[in-house]
Amino acid sequence: MTEGREDRDRIIYHPTATYVIIDLEWNQPIPWIKSRVDPKQLPGEIIEIGAVKLSVDERGTELSKPFHVLIRPICYTVMNKNVSRVINKISSDLRHGLTFIDAYEAFIRWCGDDFVICGWGNSDLSILKANLRFHDRSALLGRHFLDVQTLFSKVAEDKNVQRSVEYAVDFLRIPKLEDFHEAHRDAEYTGKILEKLFDILENDEPAVFRLEQYLFDPDLNVQSERRTDYCDSWSDCCDRTFSEPAVCPACGSPLREELAWFRIRKSGFSLFRCDTHNLVAGRVRLKKNAEGKVYASVVLKLIQPGEARPINERHEEYLIYGTSGKPREENILLAADETINPENAL
Ligand SMILES: [Zn+2]
Repeated sequence: MTEGREDRDRIIYHPTATYVIIDLEWNQPIPWIKSRVDPKQLPGEIIEIGAVKLSVDERGTELSKPFHVLIRPICYTVMNKNVSRVINKISSDLRHGLTFIDAYEAFIRWCGDDFVICGWGNSDLSILKANLRFHDRSALLGRHFLDVQTLFSKVAEDKNVQRSVEYAVDFLRIPKLEDFHEAHRDAEYTGKILEKLFDILENDEPAVFRLEQYLFDPDLNVQSERRTDYCDSWSDCCDRTFSEPAVCPACGSPLREELAWFRIRKSGFSLFRCDTHNLVAGRVRLKKNAEGKVYASVVLKLIQPGEARPINERHEEYLIYGTSGKPREENILLAADETINPENAL
């Protein structure tokens, strides 16, 4: 892969030599079966951990053999139909496997010392943290996280959309040999996707690619929240808030604007970047107290790169419909009725 271009410097700066790509499968509660835990605390119980390592050095990249372990659930022991449709398991499959703690410890030993965790989207991370908390373990992971789904959208498609692993595999023409939706197979495919994205970046990107911009610290859950003074009107409230300088909720440094504040109905949105903590989302909610006085709550929150997508979608809505936003569904139906009713047409 590197032949004929030894004279060129590497153009990706890798924050680590090892990427651990994880894929978790979890079972979900069944609403009418009483369980020993509040589903809000444990939205999914992990039943499978799959992972591969992608090692990077000057010779190129190398994908490890998969790590794979089955876990015997203790809360959601009956297979949820919606889950089983996707991952092809039945309840009796859940009677085998290690305890979560034994499986997790084996996984951590396999990971080694220095690595970045990667996954397809960020739902695996929040489920992992919920499971650690449920088992009275620290939910701090101590590693940065790279969302391969967001990187794929940016590097391969340059689009602001969420794709499936299978879509990305087809898009990048990665040969398909195994079934999807088995934890270690999905991890392996995601590893191959990441390998291919590095290849594209090494060979096609004209500029140095700063991969660390796509990293996120999953242990930092930081936001700042404040209330504005009372204002004369909502637009006055926005004018004032939108022109104030923003600082990072984690370190207090001034933020660079990525997407300037815009307002849709009673909400304001923005995106900023901190040199250390990457993306920060701004959110304003316009409110009225009992006496009709107007104010706003302003939240600045560290977000993962993938969480910028809904904000970009709202911005597209704003560019088309302005401050009033996309007409709500009932308004669209009304408008449609008017156009097909000849009496209204007159
Ligand atoms: Zn910061």
